[in-house]
Amino acid sequence: MNENLTADRETFVTHLECSITGERYEADQLHGLSRAGRPLLVRYDLDAVRAAISRDTIEARPTDLWRWRELLPVRETSNIVSLGEIETPLVPLTKSGGPNVLVKDEGRLPTGSFKARGLVMAVAMAKELGVTKIAMPTNGNAGAALAAYATRCGIETIVLCPDDTPEINVREIAMQGARVWRVNGLIDDCGAIVGKGASEGRWFDFSTLKEPYRIEGKKTMGLELAAQFGWKLPDAIFYPTGGGTGLIGMWKAFDELEQLGWIGSERPKMFAVQASGCAPIVRAFEAGEEHAERWEDASTVAAGIRVPKAVGDFLILRAVRESGGQAMAVGDPATLKAVEAAAKQDGLLLCPEGGATLAAYHQALNTGLVDEDDRVVLFNCATGLKYPMPEAPQALDRTRPIDFDAL
Ligand SMILES: *Cc1c(COP(=O)(O)O)cnc(C)c1O
Repeated sequence: MNENLTADRETFVTHLECSITGERYEADQLHGLSRAGRPLLVRYDLDAVRAAISRDTIEARPTDLWRWRELLPVRETSNIVSLGEIETPLVPLTKSGGPNVLVKDEGRLPTGSFKARGLVMAVAMAKELGVTKIAMPTNGNAGAALAAYATRCGIETIVLCPDDTPEINVREIAMQGARVWRVNGLIDDCGAIVGKGASEGRWFDFSTLKEPYRIEGKKTMGLELAAQFGWKLPDAIFYPTGGGTGLIGMWKAFDELEQLGWIGSERPKMFAVQASGCAPIVRAFEAGEEHAERWEDASTVAAGIRVPKAVGDFLILRAVRESGGQAMAVGDPATLKAVEAAAKQDGLLLCPEGGATLAAYHQALNTGLVDEDDRVVLFNCATGLKYPMPEAPQALDRTRPIDFDAL
């Protein structure tokens, strides 16, 4: 943990705000959605942050998530439950991507996915606000991160996931101390059960964007990118979009950084990448709608983005449109081919959702949405090791003559 903090027992949070009506909510109280049923956004006294620290202060600190402490909501440092949240590297993908393509490899975070960023923050805040029992619907990675952090600070967790969630996710959730249930439905069906229990007062609802602090954790992706790019943002970001927390969080980060005077007004084009078997945001983007309707019969190999309905739909669509980017759908075959290309040509094992961003990048290149000179960031949101890989069945019998030419 950083020693040289200016904000050891203070946060610069002033209040929370409804993302659709702007209605104000008190800090230091437990909140779910706003009264309008929409996500709450955390607001900071950025003038005070600017007076307290500079870009140099940040750069002098260890490169972990907590170097951004003044732009994060946790009041008491003792409430931080850490498993070692590193700044993730930007890995060039020169062969399967191109000369200016970098992968932000989020698979290196605790529990092997970027869900750790959101959940480390949300759990710290839950601890700070006295929550003792949490329930959550998940496609796998969020449940794993919740289980790990909540177990670490003694919060009880119940996790519901679709019954076809990747086996390794279900087991890691159980192994890390949550009670996990497979539900014969999709993530929003799981969410409905969690919501019902919450309304009966059984637990606190940790669904994506239904508590305010996951966005703040995911925001650190945008803060990191700014620092890693020397306080000048890349030209385009390809983000695999389910609930969209990361895209919304990065967009918020860029705003806050500009208000601090740490970056200018230029923004990357934001590309929300979805699977063609579950593309509610793409459909709404193309129809010019502000909200996205539920996608029926959602199906894709990229389980992390199989989200038929997102409460933050309008925030995703707004950010994508304001940035001059686009919402794009990618078919599963293109996604799997991209995973294979990155692994076999560049030695980087992507998760399917990360593969979808590589496939989308090539689609965008072909249609002129980006060009080869653009500095592009693709998000690999989880370690490729969590997902099934093609068989490698060849065996060698050491008791027989070895045909060395055939090896
Ligand atoms: C959760 C998840 C996503 C989607 O992230 P959001 O910010 O919720 O849109 C993408 N890929 C993987 C592997 C995930 O676990």
